[in-house]
Amino acid sequence: MKIAIYPGTFDPITNGHLDIIERATQLFDKVIVTVAVNSSKTPMFTGEERVDMIQAIIKQKRFSNVSVEQFNGLLVSFATKRNATAIIRGLRAISDFEYEFQMALMNRKQSNKIDTVFLMPAEKYTYLNSSIVREIARLDGKFKDFVHPVVYRVLKKKLSL
Ligand code: ADP
Repeated sequence: MKIAIYPGTFDPITNGHLDIIERATQLFDKVIVTVAVNSSKTPMFTGEERVDMIQAIIKQKRFSNVSVEQFNGLLVSFATKRNATAIIRGLRAISDFEYEFQMALMNRKQSNKIDTVFLMPAEKYTYLNSSIVREIARLDGKFKDFVHPVVYRVLKKKLSL
């Protein structure tokens, strides 16, 4: 069984991330979405909130081979524990490349049994990231087209508190 992990901050998950998850499910038997809670970023949503949103989307979309877990620590150790042989990352533009290249090679140094697989989203998602969605939402702009309805509702609620 080919298992991949898809790590990220997912603060919150966007349609770009979902595009990558769908592509990954075509290539692997199982995809574990891994929500990083130890990143240097200060997230808008707690780890639980991010996991709950992803869980609800997985259920609604009936993704049978996708699961979600919170994670902190060394990514490669987590991947090894879950018997994953690949780390999925999304590549949007050249600007993603340098950081992703460094991470992929550093992760390979940690374990050469795990490869990083880069997937490209549909063009319409190449300019999309979580921080621009948060920013537009904060400014009361239009962001419905960029996130799943589950995320739209939770984000609206968060901002109206
Ligand atoms: P990180 O904090 O690790 O960059 P993110 O949640 O921002 O986590 O993203 C996780 C992964 O998803 C990264 O590989 C990132 O490049 C990718 N990604 C983010 N947004 C998109 C998008 N719109 N289309 C494709 N991949 C994306």
